[in-house]
Parts: sequence; C-alpha cells; structure tokens
Amino acid sequence: MLPTPRLIGILGGTFDPIHYGHLRPALELLETLELAEMRFIPCRIPAHRGTPQVTAEQRLALVQAAIAGQPGFTADDRELRREGTSYMVDTLASLRDEFGQETPLCLIIGTDAFRELSTWSRWQDLAKVAHIVVMQRPGASQALPLMLEEWAAPRITPDASFLRTQPAGRILFQPVTQLDISATQIRALLARGQSPRYLLPEAVLACIHDQELYRSPFVENSFNS
Ligand code: ATP
Repeated sequence: MLPTPRLIGILGGTFDPIHYGHLRPALELLETLELAEMRFIPCRIPAHRGTPQVTAEQRLALVQAAIAGQPGFTADDRELRREGTSYMVDTLASLRDEFGQETPLCLIIGTDAFRELSTWSRWQDLAKVAHIVVMQRPGASQALPLMLEEWAAPRITPDASFLRTQPAGRILFQPVTQLDISATQIRALLARGQSPRYLLPEAVLACIHDQELYRSPFVENSFNS
C-alpha cells in the first residue's frame, strides 16, 4: 500500500499583527485536515495594501511569539528573503521546489481574500501549484464574482480526503470557528491607546508593548511605500 501523502498548510498574510482570528482557524485546520504542518508566511511587501507601519522582521517576530510551543505550527521567512512585492504564486513555486512534485500543498485563505483572488498576480496558476482551502470569515460575503465562480466551480470538492489524491488543483470550503477579529481593529485600538487584550496572544501583546509598536495613528489603506 502506498503511504498517505503528507499535507502541508500554507497560511500567508501581512500578520500586522497576528491574532486569534488567524490562530484558532489555523489550529482547527491543522487538526481537521490532519496537516503535517501549518506554515505561517508573513509577506515582506503586501501586494494589496499599503506598506505596514511595522517592519516585516517585526511582524515575523510576532508570528514566532504567537506560535511558539504549538506542535505543527511553523514560521517561514522566505518572503522576507525575496526582493520586491510578495506574490503568493512565487512563494508557492518555491515551496513546490522544496517539497517536490508529489506533496499536496494547501493554500489557506479567508473568504474575504478568496473573493479577491482574481486580483492576485498570476492567480490562475495558484491552483496548478496548490490546493486552496477557504475558511469562512465573519462578515465576508459567500457570493463570488462571476469570473472566479466559473473558474472555481469545477475545482470545488466537498470532501477533504480528495486533497490527498493529487498535489494541487482542488478547492475546499472548510468551516472554522467564526472570530470577528481583524488586524485593522487591533491597530486602531493600539493607536487610540486602548487594549487589544484577548484578541491576540499575551506573548504577542507583550512584544508589541516591549517594542512600542502601533502607537502612532497611521493612515490605513494608503499606498505609502
Ligand atoms: P488587516 O485587517 O490588516 O487587513 P487581517 O486581519 O485581514 O489584516 P491578514 O494578515 O491580512 O489579516 O490575513 C491573512 C489571512 O488570514 C487572509 O487569508 C485572511 O482572510 C485570513 N484571516 C484574517 N483574519 C481572519 C479571521 N478573523 N477569520 C478567518 N480568516 C481570517
């Protein structure tokens, strides 16, 4: 009998900062899909928003503090080592090189990000390199833009076990605990001098306080690179 392939989860994001809305669904996916690993990959330069106030190295350090001690969770700094805008399609290609052609890779994204998928660089190539696992996010509409819906329809699988039958190409909608938390909300609280406690791990909050991050008001959604 052939060995069951290892399934690798890839959770990319700005993580500005990482919070329980990332961490709890990630743990649920790790356990439900029986992933061998969940890789958190902070981007160096986000493609879809302005340059964060906090450096990529600081955001990576917050991710490392958040996942310390959780078996199966790893932090991956490959986007920090790559020049220019961080495109997920390039990240997946480099992971494919590392894991080889047979290992199933699962790109994990929230419904809000999935709805915007057709704005991502070389978006149709994503499914050539990885599966896509979509986690429902509170407040995000389930309805997809027509072009995306037509592209997604033949790839959707209702059954997580199909993710092990091929290395890439399937789309799975996976329910997760709904936590209406966003990094935007946390940055706004900190900028106002209010506490984001209980929205993110204490270890992350301690790093934020130690390094005096997110203190000054910052104009959101501006491309200020
Ligand atoms: P911001 O508020 O700055 O836009 P964010 O909270 O959306 O940040 P990101 O780092 O941009 O966090 O998100 C990385 C990934 O995690 C995306 O695919 C996003 O959809 C998903 N995600 C973020 N927050 C949640 C949440 N509360 N529930 C489910 N998925 C989430």
